[in-house]
Amino acid sequence: MLDWLGGAAAGLAALGLSLRYNWWRAPRRGVPLLMYHHITDNLNGSGLAKLRVAPRRFARQLDWLLGHGYQAVTLSRALSADAPARPVAITFDDGFANFYDEAWPLLRERGMAATVFLVTAEVDGANAWDRDKGEPEEPLLSRAQILELAARGVEFGGHSHNHHDLTALDDRGLMREITGCQKALTDLLGKPARVFSYPYGLFNDQVRQATSRAGFTMACTTRPGMIVHATDRLSLPRIIVKRSDDMLDFRLKMSRARSRL
Ligand SMILES: [Zn+2]
Repeated sequence: MLDWLGGAAAGLAALGLSLRYNWWRAPRRGVPLLMYHHITDNLNGSGLAKLRVAPRRFARQLDWLLGHGYQAVTLSRALSADAPARPVAITFDDGFANFYDEAWPLLRERGMAATVFLVTAEVDGANAWDRDKGEPEEPLLSRAQILELAARGVEFGGHSHNHHDLTALDDRGLMREITGCQKALTDLLGKPARVFSYPYGLFNDQVRQATSRAGFTMACTTRPGMIVHATDRLSLPRIIVKRSDDMLDFRLKMSRARSRL
């Protein structure tokens, strides 16, 4: 009886591990786009702590990428004819100031590039869109920081003007949130931005078309997967990296392209 219980417990544990690591799935080919939000040790009472990756873990993930021959380039370059042999695009949604303080020094010392998606109405401000969810206020990148980073090769893209759910908006709203975002980016950076990330990963045909009309040629979702030749450039899958991911999780995500929030 005890042996049977032990066997059942071991079986359940193995099943749990299997569900977590998806080891049975075949490796996936394609260009990986990694999705991050915060790089910080400070959880600040957030209910979304899973989006706050510790700097030490982030550094180990970058070292793993380097050690496996990946070259971190901007999203635009990763999907261009000019892409290196083994590209990876490291993307950051929302444009938090901890990108400047925590992520960029680790990227820069390794010669790695990144792409940051800005909420243009809140540049120099904070994450106002999170307020009604009880999320702590966090500073966003300032204009001066953005210009300095852009000069050093960081790519900036749009994440809408006010971080609204774009699928809930009419044409006027889409104009304000997507075309308005492009205008603000063009004013800030001196040239139109090419890349976009849908707030909350939410989009539909109308949103997709408005994004294209605003001059963005690539747009990211939060759906898991890797980019292959046939992937629609305006609904790009990404691999979400979470605080709880250890190196085994990260390696399996990189090969299986499985992730969920
Ligand atoms: Zn966001």
